[in-house]
Amino acid sequence: GATIGILGGGQLGRMLSVAAARLGFKTHIFEPGANPPAGHVAERVITAAYEDEEALRRFADGVDVITYEFENIPTSALDLLESLRPIRPNRKALAVSQDRLVEKAFLNELGLATAPFAAVDDATDLAEAIAEIGCPAILKTRRFGYDGKGQVRLKSESDAETALADMAGAPSILERFVDFTAEISVIAARNPSGEVACFDPGENVHKSGILHTTTVPARITEAQRTDAVLMAAKILNKLDYIGVMGVELFVTPKGLIVNEIAPRVHNSGHWTQAGCTVDQFEQHIRAVAGWSLGDGARYADVEMLNLIGDDVEKLQDLAKQPRTQIHLYGKSEAKPGRKMGHVNRVL
Ligand code: ATP
Ligand code: MG
Ligand code: MG
Repeated sequence: GATIGILGGGQLGRMLSVAAARLGFKTHIFEPGANPPAGHVAERVITAAYEDEEALRRFADGVDVITYEFENIPTSALDLLESLRPIRPNRKALAVSQDRLVEKAFLNELGLATAPFAAVDDATDLAEAIAEIGCPAILKTRRFGYDGKGQVRLKSESDAETALADMAGAPSILERFVDFTAEISVIAARNPSGEVACFDPGENVHKSGILHTTTVPARITEAQRTDAVLMAAKILNKLDYIGVMGVELFVTPKGLIVNEIAPRVHNSGHWTQAGCTVDQFEQHIRAVAGWSLGDGARYADVEMLNLIGDDVEKLQDLAKQPRTQIHLYGKSEAKPGRKMGHVNRVL
């Protein structure tokens, strides 16, 4: 059987490895951190920095195709790896999702709505951006933000100075605050033949910037459901995308607005493990391996609940709950804000 290389050894890499194993593939993990969650299930783990060319070559030599579980892979590593093995999803998908400014420009060019935005590198830019966009607004770092990190909210212009100081000189964008009625996401997949399959949109609730629950079905109209799926498909087709993508959307009375895209399996797609015959992890492996996709049909109403930090202490209570599937990531230390596992409750 073929071997799939995965950049990143966190919980997403772990669940991808489990899915790959079920389909008869081996996985090799490349991960700078020691004892990664995916290491417990992969055939091989290469522990090295992304600057270590020899290790990158060794990793590429052992695999047939390379995929990833996070989007912030350094460009130099991608350049080298791409010369050795196919990378799926492709570089364009990474370039677009690594930088919020490039991402929003790409989406607007496709005719998809985003929050009004402007690039901010200094105090002058910020003053101009506030004048153009208005407040309330959010200042976000263009790169490396996740779980709401690297973001400051501005209630009014008077918050500008402290907000800019919080960014510590990182290239940023100012986004108008969207008054949404709900947040949803579409988990979509595309394979090398151009087949596209979408899972039913899930409704997301965040707590302290971190995803708390995803529930399906989302409380949206049929028209919104269709719109969401068509928007996701448009993005995948434009990028000539191979793999699973998470597309985060805001629901507003004026229509759907794209918040951001993630070129990988997504936390808000974990419900598919209990709601679909082919879940997002199997779907991604199928796409990357050039297989036909599962159809994405949903067979149950599901609530996915993330277990963050000490939440794992509730484990024995959760184990007593009916219709509840438990997933733990095998992380030793339950630090605050750390994703330790999740449960899928069939409603
Ligand atoms: P993730 O962990 O999903 O990658 P992130 O750190 O990249 O998150 P965003 O998804 O941009 O950050 O923002 C986190 C959350 O903050 C959103 O899910 C949403 O609840 C809120 N948010 C972000 N941008 C806006 C906006 N323009 N208007 C209103 N709320 C917003
Ligand atoms: Mg993000
Ligand atoms: Mg997000």
